[in-house]
Amino acid sequence: MEPGTRNLEPGTRNPELGTWNLETGTWNLEPGNRDLEKQNSGIRTLQAEPGLLLRPARFSEHGEPENSFAAGAFALSCLSIDAVYSRPLPKGSDNQQMIDLESFLRDVPDFPKPGILFKDITPLLASPAAFKEACDRLAKPFANKGVTKVVGIESRGFIFGAPVAQRLGAGFVPIRKPGKLPAETVSQSYQLEYGSDTIEIHADAIGPREKVLLVDDLLATGGTMAAAVELVAKLGGEVVGIAFVIELCFLPGRDKLAGQNVHALIQIK
Ligand code: AMP
Repeated sequence: MEPGTRNLEPGTRNPELGTWNLETGTWNLEPGNRDLEKQNSGIRTLQAEPGLLLRPARFSEHGEPENSFAAGAFALSCLSIDAVYSRPLPKGSDNQQMIDLESFLRDVPDFPKPGILFKDITPLLASPAAFKEACDRLAKPFANKGVTKVVGIESRGFIFGAPVAQRLGAGFVPIRKPGKLPAETVSQSYQLEYGSDTIEIHADAIGPREKVLLVDDLLATGGTMAAAVELVAKLGGEVVGIAFVIELCFLPGRDKLAGQNVHALIQIK
C-alpha cells in the first residue's frame, strides 16, 4: 500500500463518512453524514477519515470487489475492527458505535414448514458494516482464550465461523451433514421433534486438548449444537465457548448447553 493511503471497508459506521462517486471518480468527505451504504445511482458510501488520501475501490452491484483496491478492503475486513479502523474508542464504551443487528434480520413465516418463523440472516450478510460487526462481536469474548480451532456448523455456521477464526488467529473446521466430508469422519446423531439427524466431523480435525470455539447462526432447541459439542469431545478437544448470532430465548436451547460459555448477539424473547 502506498504511504498515505489506506484500505477501508465499505459501509462501516463512522462519524465522518466519505462518498466515492463512480461517475466523477472523486471522493467527497462529508463530516456528519451518517447514511450507510448509499447505493443510489452508482454512489457507494465508504468509511473515511478527513485528510486521508483514499484510492478508488470499485464494487459490482452485488458488492463484490472489482479491482485490487476493493479486494484489499475486503481482505482487511477479516481483521478486527480495531485493527482496520484505528481511532480508539473511549474506555468503557466499546459499544458506542454498535449497530442494531436485529434490524438486519428478516422474518419469513412458514419457512421451511408451516408454523416456523424463519430468521433470515441474508440482509445482515448483505450489509458490509453489519456483517463485519457481527463477526467482530462473535469473536471478541474469545480473544486471548487460546482458541486454536473454530468449528462452524453447516451451512450458516460456515459463513460466520470462518471470519471469526481469522479474527482469533485460529483454524476453521467444518461440521457437515452425512456424506459431505471426504476423509475419515466421526458422527453424532441427535433427536429432532420427529425422527433424528446426524452430523459429522473429520476424525483428524481437532487434536487432543485443542481449545475450540463453536459457531452457528441460530440457537433454537440446542440439539444441533449439543451434538457438535459431543463431536468435539469425541476428538479430545476442549470447548471454551459457543457463539451464536441469534438465540431464540423462548426455546430451551441454552439448557441443553448447560455448563458451556454461551454467547449470543441477538436474543429474541
Ligand atoms: P436447533 O438444533 O433446534 O437449535 O436448530 C439450530 C439449527 O437450525 C441452526 O443451524 C439454524 O440455522 C436452524 N434453525 C432452527 N430454527 C430456525 C429459525 N427459526 N430460523 C432460522 N434458522 C433456524
